[in-house]
Amino acid sequence: MWKRLFASRAFYLVLLALMVGAFLATQVRIEETDPRPMGTPADIARLAERDDLNIVFILIDTLRADRLGAYAYERDTSPVLDAMAADGLRFGYHMSQSSWTKCSMASMWTAHYPVRTGVTRSEHAISPEAKMPAEILQEAGYKTYALWRNAWVGPSFGFSQGFEVYHSPRPSRLPPSVRREKPTVGVAGTDWDIMQSARDFLLTHDEEKFLLYLHLMDVHQYVYDEDTALFGTTYSDIYDNSIRWVDRLLGVLVEDLNRRGLRDKTLIVVASDHGEAFGEHGREGHARDVYSEVVTTPLIISFPFRLPEPLVVNEPSENVDLWPTLLDLLGMPGIEGADGRSLRGEIEAAAAGTETGADAEARFAHIDQSWGRKKVESQPMVAVTEGPYRLVFRTAGRGARRAELYEYATDRLESRRVDADQPDVRQHMVELVRSYLNETPASWGDAPEIELDEAQLQQLRALGYEIE
Ligand SMILES: [Zn+2]
Repeated sequence: MWKRLFASRAFYLVLLALMVGAFLATQVRIEETDPRPMGTPADIARLAERDDLNIVFILIDTLRADRLGAYAYERDTSPVLDAMAADGLRFGYHMSQSSWTKCSMASMWTAHYPVRTGVTRSEHAISPEAKMPAEILQEAGYKTYALWRNAWVGPSFGFSQGFEVYHSPRPSRLPPSVRREKPTVGVAGTDWDIMQSARDFLLTHDEEKFLLYLHLMDVHQYVYDEDTALFGTTYSDIYDNSIRWVDRLLGVLVEDLNRRGLRDKTLIVVASDHGEAFGEHGREGHARDVYSEVVTTPLIISFPFRLPEPLVVNEPSENVDLWPTLLDLLGMPGIEGADGRSLRGEIEAAAAGTETGADAEARFAHIDQSWGRKKVESQPMVAVTEGPYRLVFRTAGRGARRAELYEYATDRLESRRVDADQPDVRQHMVELVRSYLNETPASWGDAPEIELDEAQLQQLRALGYEIE
């Protein structure tokens, strides 16, 4: 009888369910165990003087900012992230550099725009010559450890530079109540696998200074827990349910940091590589255009101390600024030749209740619309944001669809074109895009091209993309 029981699939599913139950039951009210002292915005400037700080960098793939409570969403999708923002720092007007993971992440890590990294097509990789934040931190004595599940940030594309360990955890089977509703094929496992590995890492490394990068995929895969789902059954609802599920997993990690006495010496940074469309401009998903719904992402920093009230930077910021800002806050050298810059000035201005006037700078998002089609020439689509305006420009477009102007400051979902009212602004912004497209590559030169083997292609197709 025992033999039969051990051989049955149901037995293991029940066992797994009990393990997950026990795991989630470890969640207690986080604030009860929060060991962080109270601080003030002046303590942010003093972070650079400390030499005991860890960084937990959490990348939630495919997370739209406007689906989080902290960004004024009406649904309760993200209590843990909201709590981090409530006594930390939130960038309220933040954008990613692309709507496709690899292109966007290459820009985030190198602080260079896509046109300068050159990582815009499926065969491109980050140059080994590029100086990556993990390398800078490793040279400064940090233990650098990454856990990832998205093959677009795999080591073959150059993303492991500077990481001592760059590991994709072995996928476990989905617990019975956890569903994956991504309409296309899916990657195995869930973010629970990453969280388990992260907890193992914390167990063995709490004496050393570390950078821990977790690249979570359950929002991308529409994974959620049926037993605790709060919202409906449309894709948009399920997307919200998956944010709720991932937020809960983050709660377990935060609680772990609290219990291990690490929270008061750790910066927790939460960002995303792109958003997700639900038909706003005729498309679902991401990785095909650069309208605001696919490039407006959150950026939240939880400090090793609690601020008495939320600090919000409402001036524009973008993912190329992320690492220049973090390195600056830590008192470390920056990234040479970067397009992004430290947002320290914006943070200090927000704390003082003033502004720097930085929204006059042009900012760019970029996707090659034929990135996965080997035999088709590049078709860059670029959006430029400057002042109150945003222009979406298709190099492959014709007529009225070629350049669309929106008054982004008052129309964040880009629902009403203003080209006809503002022909001069439109023309000026078209010129900004043209000069962007003529930028010279980064100091390390063109992006190397790699040959993807069949196994890699299958892995990437499992994410739901068509690649030739
Ligand atoms: Zn992605």
